[in-house]
Amino acid sequence: MLTKAPKGTKDVLSTESFKWQYLERIFREVCESFGYKEIRTPVFEHTELFERGVGETTDVVQKEMYTFEDKAGRSITLKPEGTAPVVRAFIEHKLYSGAMPLKFFYITPCYRYERPQAGRLREFHQFGIEVFGSSHPAVDVEVMSLVYNIYKILGVEGIELSINNIGCPKCRTEYNKKLREFLKDKLDSLCETCQSRYEKNPMRILDCKNERCQTEIIDAPLMVDYLCNECSDHFEKVKEYLEIAGIEYKVDPKIVRGLDYYTKTAFEFISNEIGSQSTVCGGGRYDGLVEELGGPQTPAVGFGMGMERLLLTLENNGIEVPREKGLDIFIVTIGDKADKEAFRLLNNLRKNGISADKDYLERSIKAQFKYSDKLESEYTMVIGDDEVDKGIVSIKNMKTGEQQEVKLNNLIDELKFKLGR
Ligand code: ATP
Ligand code: MG
Repeated sequence: MLTKAPKGTKDVLSTESFKWQYLERIFREVCESFGYKEIRTPVFEHTELFERGVGETTDVVQKEMYTFEDKAGRSITLKPEGTAPVVRAFIEHKLYSGAMPLKFFYITPCYRYERPQAGRLREFHQFGIEVFGSSHPAVDVEVMSLVYNIYKILGVEGIELSINNIGCPKCRTEYNKKLREFLKDKLDSLCETCQSRYEKNPMRILDCKNERCQTEIIDAPLMVDYLCNECSDHFEKVKEYLEIAGIEYKVDPKIVRGLDYYTKTAFEFISNEIGSQSTVCGGGRYDGLVEELGGPQTPAVGFGMGMERLLLTLENNGIEVPREKGLDIFIVTIGDKADKEAFRLLNNLRKNGISADKDYLERSIKAQFKYSDKLESEYTMVIGDDEVDKGIVSIKNMKTGEQQEVKLNNLIDELKFKLGR
């Protein structure tokens, strides 16, 4: 136990972290180009926030939350998703009183008690965005287009966008009646969770992963056939803007999404490369959530993207993440005096933006060179008593094997020149 990470969690070792840094860098760059600013919220929140914000009839709330009592008896939950906390912050800090729309992005760990498998963990990471304050259909498409741009930059192929419109409270009430009628005779065959959803939120049954439930609902009436004028008009405009953006999509009237708060637009990006856990990104509009959580009526739209699944997609597409570069220079030292001189030099090199390291194990010259190789150093220099006395060192280009003598007081300028800095 002691030396095993908890089930469903993963260490990102230093041999892998460059992939995460790469993704995060691209997210940040794309967000900046779209005018989105970063928001960071706590890893835990009051349980009530998710019960209300994600919805009591969702799998997340019914089965998957990490909930515990803290020492003062408060019910606390590790965030299972990123939207509800951002909405909470939006209300708490009265951000609605500023200029709209407000555009945020976040990169955060999330926690869900699920059965771990490829692309499904108990601690996973989401990149997401939220836009508050506009009900314009073009914003829905901007949100999708941000995801689309990220896939393009990463060079990911074979990802499909599916969209749907899941109505608003007005037309959904009517639709729910139709759906309940359809489900009435099938109720006994549905799983227990779905039976409990029948009264409160029957649409959620369409999203059940249980195979038996899936067979029962095959011919269920579809929300798109019952949209009110406002919702169907919104849906048509979203399609128009998608065409303007040049983004291919298909309509999938079966998309419901895992969270209760979606209204109108719901969308998913699906990868055909990663098997069963194929939804790499899901999002939609949630015009009722801010009000539901105690803020003023504020339309909003966003998405959440699983980073582990994105990494799997990259892998399955054969896309190599650019590796970090190695060290600029490694200093091989011979003897005590040289070691001290090298230690002083390191400081100077690093201060000048040159990445540098030296031996700390009193290894042989050969072993120090080998270690330098392992660090993928661009240059290696050797310094012994003689070099310190004469003030001249020899630096070796590790790729070409070429060696050059350099005056110690010229070392930094010379290296900067060689490294093109
Ligand atoms: P799924 O249907 O696969 O369970 P979901 O509808 O629960 O997904 P969302 O709540 O919309 O997913 O979360 C957004 C994204 O976060 C998903 O598209 C997925 O990429 C990722 N994600 C969700 N749950 C997990 C998990 N347990 N492990 C890894 N990634 C996850
Ligand atoms: Mg899920």
